[in-house]
Amino acid sequence: MIPIGAKGVAAEFLGFDGLDGAEHIAIRFAGRVPMPSRPPLVRLHSECLTGDIFASARCDCGSQLHEAIECLSEEGGILLYLRQEGRGIGLYAKLDAYRLQDTGIDTYAANRHLNLPEDARDYGVGARMLLALGIDRIRLLTNNPDKVAQLGLAGIDVTEVRRTGVYVTNANRAYLQAKFEHRHMLDPRLFRAPAEAALAE
Ligand SMILES: [Zn+2]
Repeated sequence: MIPIGAKGVAAEFLGFDGLDGAEHIAIRFAGRVPMPSRPPLVRLHSECLTGDIFASARCDCGSQLHEAIECLSEEGGILLYLRQEGRGIGLYAKLDAYRLQDTGIDTYAANRHLNLPEDARDYGVGARMLLALGIDRIRLLTNNPDKVAQLGLAGIDVTEVRRTGVYVTNANRAYLQAKFEHRHMLDPRLFRAPAEAALAE
């Protein structure tokens, strides 16, 4: 057990054999108010060194990770921390794409310019991790419909989708807008009011 988050909640870090070569990790939270009668709450979080560790304002990854840790600390569940930096293209390529984005193109066009996929993430690895933990029914914390679809195809029954907050800043507004337009984010009009107002500006 490792105490993590602002409140030092105990969490269990679990490694796996036979995945895709990356050191994906599952973090299991017992929860302060667990709900054992319901499928576990799960968050798939793709690694983002700049956002998760250095609180970069270019994306909303750090805010979403901390929100997930808060939710899971309360009701328990699993955080799958997937080593899929830069939507799967890697850190160096992501930094190259950031430089291109500074010329005015969006995150997806930048990837295409580098001859890289717009989104290389395979959430099947997350499904395999859940199945290895004996979990095939989950409640999923996400705004990304691609995660729901890929998990379903990989044998995970997503019984409920709980949306996360949308953390809009002046620095990440264009990034979030591009994610929405490329259908990697559910309709922001469905999100909580402050985000809706901010994104609609
Ligand atoms: Zn990020």
